[in-house]
Amino acid sequence: MKPAQLLLAYQRLVEKERELRDDLERVESLLTSDPDVVAAEEALASAQAERQAIQLRLRESDRERESHRTRLRSREKELMSGRIRSPSELMQMSEEVKHMKASFAEEEEAELRLMEEGEAAEDAVREAAASLEEARKRSAEAAPTLRRDLESWQSELETVKADSAAIWSQVPLPAQNAYLRVRVYPQVAEVDRNQCLACHVTVTSSGMQALRKGDEIVQCENCGRILVMA
Ligand SMILES: [Zn+2]
Repeated sequence: MKPAQLLLAYQRLVEKERELRDDLERVESLLTSDPDVVAAEEALASAQAERQAIQLRLRESDRERESHRTRLRSREKELMSGRIRSPSELMQMSEEVKHMKASFAEEEEAELRLMEEGEAAEDAVREAAASLEEARKRSAEAAPTLRRDLESWQSELETVKADSAAIWSQVPLPAQNAYLRVRVYPQVAEVDRNQCLACHVTVTSSGMQALRKGDEIVQCENCGRILVMA
């Protein structure tokens, strides 16, 4: 192979190595922590927090209603006892009892609504727990395949690294230096119909002549890439 062809082959292997490393990283992180499982865990935790908040409100509402009920009963007893003689005081107390009964009924309504919310929260927790279980199952089922992929990519990576090192060692030193000086990525561009396929600028006729001979490195006058015949 001519120097530029060697460099193109080298560049393709470097690209392949990068893809393999990306794949490996992705699979390794998936095996360490599956984002679907993490999301399902978070959803369950938030459903549980919601349920707990409602349970607390329910307990508080129970306590309040209990104390209101006790007060109402004692007021009613007092009213019925006949001990209060003053008509104005009786009137006032009976108004008070009426008022207490009305607000007690409102509290019961509110408690019923809260209980409905509690049931909905309970359902949400159950659903979130089922989704988490499902996500964990899927993750566990996918793991063996992922591990097999991981192993095969690891061995492929070793091969690619060895191949690219072997090709690089065949590249003459001046061509190696020219490649290392190119500051754009990818460093090597193919030429088709007198055009640099990376930047689409036409290669000069003297450049094309040198390229056809292939012994020396020709760089694109526009983008600086090392050129190789397609
Ligand atoms: Zn170019």
